Amino acid sequence: LDPDDRTRGKAGVNAFLHVNAEEALSVAAEVDAARARGEELPALAGVPIAVKDLIVTKGQPTTAASRMLEGWMSPYDATVTRRLRAARMPILGKTNLDEFAMGSTTEHSAFGDTRNPWDLSRIPGGSGGGSAAAVAAFQAPLALGTDTGGSIRQPAALTGTVGVKPTYGGVSRYGVIAMASSLDQVGPASRTVLDAALLHEVVGGHDPHDSTSLPDPVGDLVAQARAGAAEGGLKGLRVGVVKELTGEGFQAGVQQRFDEAVELLRSAGAEIVELSTPNFRYALGAYYLIMSSEVSSNLAKYDGVRFGHRVLPEGGPMTIERVMGATRAAGFGAEVKRRIILGTYALSAGYYDAYYGSAQKVRTLVQRDFAAAFEQVDVLVSPTAPTTAFELGAVDESADPMQMYLNDIATIPTNLAGIPAISVPGGLAPEDGLPVGIQFMAPAREDARLYRAGAGLE
Ligand code: GLN
Repeated sequence: LDPDDRTRGKAGVNAFLHVNAEEALSVAAEVDAARARGEELPALAGVPIAVKDLIVTKGQPTTAASRMLEGWMSPYDATVTRRLRAARMPILGKTNLDEFAMGSTTEHSAFGDTRNPWDLSRIPGGSGGGSAAAVAAFQAPLALGTDTGGSIRQPAALTGTVGVKPTYGGVSRYGVIAMASSLDQVGPASRTVLDAALLHEVVGGHDPHDSTSLPDPVGDLVAQARAGAAEGGLKGLRVGVVKELTGEGFQAGVQQRFDEAVELLRSAGAEIVELSTPNFRYALGAYYLIMSSEVSSNLAKYDGVRFGHRVLPEGGPMTIERVMGATRAAGFGAEVKRRIILGTYALSAGYYDAYYGSAQKVRTLVQRDFAAAFEQVDVLVSPTAPTTAFELGAVDESADPMQMYLNDIATIPTNLAGIPAISVPGGLAPEDGLPVGIQFMAPAREDARLYRAGAGLE
């Protein structure tokens, strides 16, 4: 979308929490020197990248946008960070996010919000709003994000960029600060589908440090992106339109651009099938229970004792409980606390079967809906998000958290099922001139199909 406007919203976007220009420039200079010597270099050598501040990087701070980790430096690199360095990509810095990746707007960062480069009064989406905004504002050609319920795809949709959530286990989570371990995935943010494929091939593939890492090689993603973009690249592709992810609740202009995208796919030779996934209506509820439960367990380690922030209680005895209480009260923001409390409640004895147990059953039903759909089609398609970018402060989740959670309606089913999905730009909504995202979903381990379909529509 408007790739020639290289100045759009550059100032005031606040995409980065930390910039390490010195390190990035020195890597770039080394690559230049190697190139001058005629050395053979990896495909993305010298291409700068921004990294979501949930992914640990040795030598640069990692905060998860939380007071809890303010000033903390990781003693090691995440596997994906190591792979970026091996690919000789200069790491520009760390991008802003909702605290511990909990949110859909990047307003829940402890260090200020990120703005949408298309309109600075609007949110860039979240939780990976910093990565998407950096790419959309031409501050970085590529970025890494994490996606637990849509945090790569929804910001991509709202900023007119590309975002990919790979198959669960397709990209290592080693060194990625855990939000909800059974849902989290690292993935690329970029301006084109081909760029995302190139980056995915750099960071993806088996990692012995992550017990949930798939043994598979990463696959021919770049080749498929090229194939999809070629003349007749979508011929014969069977595309399913998910009835449950259109219509009611979707903004008129989003629906309009989506319908046009489906017609484009049809005219490019794809076979369009409308199908129903009846259990998706329970997916949002199941996600917010499973995610919160895993959050309550994963965030127990921020106890003010082992590492990170520590607040000493005033007066009274200096017990571990009181240090922990004072630290967590001051260190976590409201949304994080809301989820820890919800998850702790859901996992409590006596409630476990009613909440967590039922949510896990819904998860199986959502997986079965996908399995049935993929017997008929190669990929599924839907709008990525129900609306375009809204104004900062428009959603008051302290009054009604459900209003914000509804934003994830189209993205969370794939996380529950562990399958891959991509969001590609689908034009601007006529009513507000803001970007709309189109989402493709594919069966597990078939990420390559997303690149073919995405590049074909692009
Ligand atoms: N918006 C979703 C949530 O708040 C997704 C977050 C994510 O993918 N990290 O949970």
